[in-house]
Amino acid sequence: MSADPGPCPCGSGANYTACCGPLHAGAVAPSAERLMRSRFSAFALGLPEYLLTSWDPATRPQELVLDGGVEWRRLFISDTTAGGPGDDTGYVTFTAIGRSDEGRVEQRERSRFARGADGHWRYVDGDAA
Ligand SMILES: [Zn+2]
Repeated sequence: MSADPGPCPCGSGANYTACCGPLHAGAVAPSAERLMRSRFSAFALGLPEYLLTSWDPATRPQELVLDGGVEWRRLFISDTTAGGPGDDTGYVTFTAIGRSDEGRVEQRERSRFARGADGHWRYVDGDAA
């Protein structure tokens, strides 16, 4: 009997092992949106190292301490621009819903992603959306 990893935190409807799991293990994301989803899952699962490796070196912080007081629960992607196989940059607009002791937490952002020479998409920066 193998353990069922359950549905992926990013809300795709797929199991974690068929969705963001491989990306967290080093697989190349096929699009900026998939990379964005995997970063949300990394926030939800508490994987700061993945968040750093999927961050553009030009804007990456030295270290990242996740706010353990927020439990990230749902991700809604409202818009994507470029970020496909033929692109070097892409934009993803999303709303992330979480919960803290103070109640509901909501973060809306239009994030910018760039694809490196190694083929990996990485987060560059974002504006409040
Ligand atoms: Zn996923």
